[in-house]
Parts: sequence; structure tokens; C-alpha cells
Amino acid sequence: GYATGTFEATLFPGDGIGPEIAAATKEIFQAAGVPVVWDEQVIGKTPDPRTNSMVTRENLDSVLKHKIGLKGPMTTPIGKGFRSLNLTLRKELDLYANVRPCFNIPGYKTRYDNINLVTVRENTEGEYSGLEHEVVPGVVESLKVITRKASSRIAEFAFAYARENGRHKVSAVHKANIMKKADGLFLECCREVATKYSDIKYEEVIVDNACMQLVSNPTQFDVLVMPNLYGDIISDLCAGLVGGLGLTPSMNIGVNGLALAEAVHGTAPDIAGKDKANPTALLLSSCMMLRHIGRKDQAENIQNAVISVIAEGKWRTADLGGRATTTDFKKAVIDKLH
Ligand code: NAD
Repeated sequence: GYATGTFEATLFPGDGIGPEIAAATKEIFQAAGVPVVWDEQVIGKTPDPRTNSMVTRENLDSVLKHKIGLKGPMTTPIGKGFRSLNLTLRKELDLYANVRPCFNIPGYKTRYDNINLVTVRENTEGEYSGLEHEVVPGVVESLKVITRKASSRIAEFAFAYARENGRHKVSAVHKANIMKKADGLFLECCREVATKYSDIKYEEVIVDNACMQLVSNPTQFDVLVMPNLYGDIISDLCAGLVGGLGLTPSMNIGVNGLALAEAVHGTAPDIAGKDKANPTALLLSSCMMLRHIGRKDQAENIQNAVISVIAEGKWRTADLGGRATTTDFKKAVIDKLH
């Protein structure tokens, strides 16, 4: 099993700053004594006809085999006739949930203290079904698809995540007052699942009010679960509340426990190759991966080291107003490990 002995995981170092922050993560894992064997995967340079994408069949098979992976940021190739990287990964690996914890790092001042919430976004349907057509010139129909299957699956994931992670409340975010049938079905599924989790408080918040509440009183929230579009917007809003995309980890969940953790930020071409990147988001993502496979102690060890380096303030990278290099930051984290 994962929790004892050596385990394998897929690693996509990615592009731009990806290889630098992936290298820092690998060294920190080694220093922390995490017995991982990384299966490093590089995305193809030309489309693979077997996947109709730059993602190769071997890339996908690696994640399917190991069931867990860590992904650095990737340049989105602009081209017609084949699928985007993220869409291919999401569809082929059936990554139905996107999970993003948002919490303040002590000592790194943002507008609010004590934010500690998690957004759970449905990742496969809703407004992103890709079903759009022009009915007559000047009139476009875009279909939002909500199914019982996907809604129950995401609700079940959110409640199980809450319970496993010692959280107390799940808020379903919706617009069922207007989208009575679509968001109504989403809520119906959330309510059904909520009855099985009497230890977890359940509430429903209309999306516009949720935005207002998040920017004026964010500490009231714990776990938020929502359809695709609301999740896309609200998860970025929450990242902004705690210091920006450079600090925010995420994990994509598939069926049978498959999980692909990834930093939320992009390839940062402006600082790539300059030893300036902040590896925090990828490191915190790697900690989510460790927790997912039951290695909580190792996750806490690395996460606490990262947080205390930032809190102390001596070795902060430029994005956090400091002068430390990626290498300085990595060394400081290693010094804090138990
Ligand atoms: P970006 O996140 O790469 O950069 C935005 C700003 O944030 C830049 O100033 C950058 O220097 C800074 N930044 C981001 N991550 C940082 C880090 N870890 N440490 C320090 N500073 C950091 O966004 P962008 O410029 O819009 O996108 C660049 C490329 O990344 C594009 O090709 C885009 O398609 C791709 N992208 C990929 C992903 C992904 O793979 N998940 C996500 C977003 C963007």
C-alpha cells in the first residue's frame, strides 16, 4: 500500500518555472524521507493521434497505473484540431472534482486572518458541456447540463472530504432561484447526501450572496461545493483572499481514488529559468497528494516547514515581497523538516 514502504507517483514537471519548482519539490521529498519513486512524464511536442492531443497515451497510462500524480504548470499550445492538455487529462482520467484549500499563511498579511476553507468544484458538466450553437444569425444557445449522477458524485465527495479532514460544514453554492431545474437538481442531490452525514452541518447559499459573504466575512465558510462555472470563479476569488495563485494548491479527483495534484498558477514565463519562482503552490499540492494516500505525517512535516519559512519572513521569494531565490527557499524548507 501507499502508507507503508516505497510508492510510485507520476510527475509532470511541466513548462516554464515547472521544472524548477518540481526539482525543489523532489529534493524536499527526499530530505523529508518520503519514499516515492517518481515516474517523470513529458507532454509530447506533436499531437498523439491516439489521444488527439499533446498528451500522449503513455502520459495517461502512467497516471492510470500509479493512481496518483503531481503536475506542474504547462504552456497551453494554441492550435486547432486537437484537444487542450487540461481537457484531455480531465476527460481521459475522468477528473470529476477540483479541490482547492484556501488558508492564510501566518505572518503573510492579507485583508483577512483565519480564513480556512475548501472549494469543491464539479469539473465535468454544467456550463462547460461545450454544447453551443447558433440557432439563427445573432442568436446563440449554450447548454448547461446538470445530471443526478455527477451532482450526487460531487456532493458525496464534498461530504466525505469534510468528514475525513475534520471539517464541520458544507455549503452548496447555487442559483436555484433562477435556474430552478438545473441548480434545483444539484441542490436536491446535495440534500440527499447531507442526510447521510448528520455530523456535518449543511447549508445552501445563492451564488451572488456567496460572493458578497466571501469578500465581507470569509471565515464563516468551511467546505463549499458547486457546479462547474461557479466553482471556476469562486475558487479564484478565494485564492485572491489568501494571497494569490502563487500560494494556492489544488487536487483533481477521479474515480477509484485516482488523484492528480497541481499548482493553480501558470508557467510564469517572465521569471522562468531565473531561480525566482516560488515553489509553495506545488509543494502544498504535493502535500495534498500525500494526505490523499494516507501519508498525513509526511504531509504535515513538509507543509509546516513551508508555512514556517514564509511566516518567519527571512526567505521569501519576490512574489511575496522578498529577495530569496527558489534555491534559498528550498534550503530553508529543508532546514525546518523534522
Ligand atoms: P502565470 O500564473 O504563469 O503568471 C502570472 C504572474 O504570476 C506572472 O507575473 C508570474 O511571474 C507570477 N507567478 C505565477 N506563478 C508564480 C510562482 N510560482 N512564483 C512566483 N511568481 C509566480 O499566468 P499567465 O502569465 O497568464 O500564463 C502563462 C502560461 O501558463 C500560459 O501559457 C498559460 O496558458 C499557462 N497556464 C497554465 C496553467 C496550468 O497548467 N495549470 C494555468 C494557468 C496558466
